Amino acid sequence: MVGGGAAGIGAAGAYKGAQPDGEVIVFTEFEDAAYSPCGIPYVHGKEIPSFEALFLATKEAYVEQGIDIRYETRVDALDLKAGTVAVEGHGDIGYDRLIVGTGFDYADPGVPGSDLEGLYYVKNIRRAMEWDKVLDEVKAAVVVEATPLGLEMVTALAHRGIETHVIDHRPWALSDMADPDIAQPVEDSWAEMGVKMHYGVTLEAFLGDGKVRAVQTSAGELPVDLAVVCTEKVPNTALGTTAGLATGPTGGFLVDNRMRTSIEGVFACGDCVEVPLGVGDLPVQGLSGSHAYAQGKVAGINAGGGRREYQPVYVPWGMVAGLWMIGGAAYGETTAKALGIPHVMGVAQGISRARYFPGVKMLKVKLLAEPRSLRLIGAQMVGQEGIKERADFLAMAVKTGITIEDLAYMENVYSPPIGALNEPIALAAQNLLANS
Ligand SMILES: Cc1cc2nc3c(=O)[nH]c(=O)nc-3n(C[C@H](O)[C@H](O)[C@H](O)COP(=O)(O)OP(=O)(O)OC[C@H]3O[C@@H](n4cnc5c(N)ncnc54)[C@H](O)[C@@H]3O)c2cc1C
Repeated sequence: MVGGGAAGIGAAGAYKGAQPDGEVIVFTEFEDAAYSPCGIPYVHGKEIPSFEALFLATKEAYVEQGIDIRYETRVDALDLKAGTVAVEGHGDIGYDRLIVGTGFDYADPGVPGSDLEGLYYVKNIRRAMEWDKVLDEVKAAVVVEATPLGLEMVTALAHRGIETHVIDHRPWALSDMADPDIAQPVEDSWAEMGVKMHYGVTLEAFLGDGKVRAVQTSAGELPVDLAVVCTEKVPNTALGTTAGLATGPTGGFLVDNRMRTSIEGVFACGDCVEVPLGVGDLPVQGLSGSHAYAQGKVAGINAGGGRREYQPVYVPWGMVAGLWMIGGAAYGETTAKALGIPHVMGVAQGISRARYFPGVKMLKVKLLAEPRSLRLIGAQMVGQEGIKERADFLAMAVKTGITIEDLAYMENVYSPPIGALNEPIALAAQNLLANS
C-alpha cells in the first residue's frame, strides 16, 4: 500500500479483513498514519483544544492488527511488470497486489516567491503543530483561494483573532461548488468577524526577503506575515503515471468499480483516482476523506480476494464557514448552469426547530430537478444547524430517483427542539410544484 491517508488506512484494514494471514505493508512519507487532518483547522481556530485529540489510533494498534506501517518512508518508483516498489533507502520490495493511495497535492500557485518561508500548506499534522506556534505571532494572514479548506482556514484564523484576508480569482466564496446566494450569509458573517475578502483578484507573487511579508495581487499589495495556500486539490499521480497507470480527464487514475487500475493486480483509491458522478456520469476527483476511506475499503477487499463494488457518487457535502453551515448534494444551480444541465428549481426559507423554541435558526433549501420528470438532481442549503443530515438524505434521494412530488409530501419529524412542523425540504419542493 503506497499511502497512509484515509484511503491507505481503509485499504490496509480491509485487505487484512479479507486475507487475515496476508502480509500488509503501508508506506507513508509522513510521521503518522492514523490521524484526522480534517480537525486541523479547528485546532488552529481554538475550537478543539489540542492536536492530540485528532489521533485516531496508536501505532501499536496497527502492529497488533498485523499492519506493518513504514513511516517517513518514500516510495520512489513502481515497477508494475516486475511487481516491485523501489523504497527510498531500502531497495526493491516485491508485492502480489499493489494499492496506490497517494492522495492529493495543492495546485501550485505558480507565482514568484513560492519558495519563501511563511507559506503554509495544511496537511501533515506534525507540521500543523509547528505552524500552530507560529500562528501565535501572526498579526495578518492571507488565505489563497476560497476552496473548502480555504473557508475553514479563513474562519479558523478569524476566530483566533488574526487579521484575515482571503483572495480568490473567482467571484465569490466556494464558487466552484456553492451558489452565490448560499455563500452570501457566510460572507456577511465573515465581514462581521472582520475578514477582508478580495474576489476577482489574482495572486501575482509572494513578496519578501527569505520570508513572506506581503502578497502582490492584481488589486495591489497586501501586507501579511503568513499565507495559507488553499488552492484546489490535484491528484498526486506522478508515481503511478510514470509506471504506466492510466489517468482520466480529471487527471485522476482510471479505476473500475472494484478500484482496479489499468494494470492487473494494481488498485488505486482516494484523492488520486477519479470516479463517476451518479447524475450525468461525469468523472469527479478529489472528493473527501469519507470517500477516500470508503474507496480504500473497496480496494482492500478486492485486493484481498473478496468482492465489493464502489457505487457512483452523489457527493453530499457540508461545512461550517463563518457563522453558518452550508451544504448540498450533486448539482447546485451554478454547476448545473455551467454544465448546461436543464433543470427547474424550488427554493424555500424554513426553520430548523419549532418557531417558538429557543435557538431556532433560518434554513434555506434549494432543490434542482429534471424539467419533466421532476426527478431530483441536486440541492444546496444554508443554515445554522441540521445541514449534514439533510445533505446525506438528499444525496440518497438523488441516488434513488426521488422526485419533487415525493419530497413535497414527505413525512418529517416534528419535535420542537430539533424539527419544525414544516420541513424546509418539503417547502422547497412544494414551491417548485406551485411554480411549474
Ligand atoms: C486540512 C484538511 C482538512 C480536511 N477536512 C476534511 C473534512 O472536513 N472532511 C472530509 O471528508 N475530508 C477532509 N479532508 C480530507 C481530504 O480532503 C482528502 O479527501 C483525504 O485526505 C484524501 O485521503 P487520501 O488517503 O486519498 O490522500 P492523502 O490524505 O493525501 O494521503 C496520501 C498519503 O500518501 C502518502 N504518499 C504519497 N506519495 C507517497 C510516496 N511516493 N511514498 C510514500 N508515501 C506517499 C502520503 O504520505 C500520505 O500518507 C481534509 C484534509 C485536510 C488536509
